[in-house]
Amino acid sequence: MTLDTQHSAAFFDGRSNKRRNVTLRLRDKLEIAEQDAVIESWPYDEVRRADGPPQLLRLRCTGALPLARLEITDTATQGIVAAYCRSLDLGGASAGQTWRIVGWSLAAVCSILLLVFFGIPFVADRLAPALPFALEQRIGDAVDKQAQALFGGDTCTATDGQAAFTKLVDKLRVAGGVEIPLEAHVVSSKIPNAFALPGGKVYLLEGLLKKSENPDEIAGVLAHELGHVQHRDSLRKIIQTGGTSFLIGLLFGDVTGGSAVLFVGRSLFDASYSRDQERAADDFAINVMHKLKRSPKPLGEILVRVTGTEGNSSMTLLSSHPLSEDRLALMSKDAGQAGGPELLSAAEWKALKNICSSRSKAETGPSLFKKKWTW
Ligand SMILES: [Zn+2]
Repeated sequence: MTLDTQHSAAFFDGRSNKRRNVTLRLRDKLEIAEQDAVIESWPYDEVRRADGPPQLLRLRCTGALPLARLEITDTATQGIVAAYCRSLDLGGASAGQTWRIVGWSLAAVCSILLLVFFGIPFVADRLAPALPFALEQRIGDAVDKQAQALFGGDTCTATDGQAAFTKLVDKLRVAGGVEIPLEAHVVSSKIPNAFALPGGKVYLLEGLLKKSENPDEIAGVLAHELGHVQHRDSLRKIIQTGGTSFLIGLLFGDVTGGSAVLFVGRSLFDASYSRDQERAADDFAINVMHKLKRSPKPLGEILVRVTGTEGNSSMTLLSSHPLSEDRLALMSKDAGQAGGPELLSAAEWKALKNICSSRSKAETGPSLFKKKWTW
């Protein structure tokens, strides 16, 4: 028991500036003794914390002189005294003040939640375009490594097919005025999908290539992905998700059960781009196809074909998109103006279709492409 243990402290009696070295005794009250004589005793529930430097515990007593102060520097003593004085942080202990504290805490939680849902997207929108490309590339490499580890699919490398693919991507890049260097690959995966990662990485999955009927369909899909690249959408998404987890951590102290649930919910919500971002990528694709004097309609057609055959079951890939039919209608509008040269020759198109006849092994792991990627 600590009943008779003595703890040293400094005492200011509130009448003079004189500092008195005292010892504290934890009896039925907090006794302040000077040379074995008790000079004051403070009821524990009247002891309050007074403003002071963080390493110092400075106390006052609501029943004592207003300027009387007790200063404890020893951390062990601070802990013991704080354990006895349960009302340390109550302003005046009135119910109104307690409610004010509760109110402020709620306000703090609300403002963090507001920040998560509105502030972070706002910051991400402004930060993403300002980030130097070198940094974006590093982020892209990190994400790419994770993607590679989860791939389960190999990179397709047939030489003729790769040449045709590079030619197609390059035409689209020039027409779209995309200045950052691109790294585009076809990956052997049955999922009909395509996506872009930060740093100009564009992936087309074999499943989509198989479902395509002409180069313009693939060109449209890739042009849409270049739109995401140009608008730095994936970078924005990563900043947003990273910022969100940081704030959730702040709110809950660490990633506990509750925050994990919230965070997972939020990342699921985040897993696709916003409708506005999708629309902007579609507009970008339409523009690129117009510049090449090719119809954007095939993009709409492959979208309808893919969603038509896949249904709604596992295809989150289009859930956040505007309806495929609407997109097809949008892309069909100016289709008549198309009369430019073919993007790929028949031989090149055949080679691209066969690009996965040769592959380079990727690290194996659970497939990344089961559900969540969006194009
Ligand atoms: Zn998209």
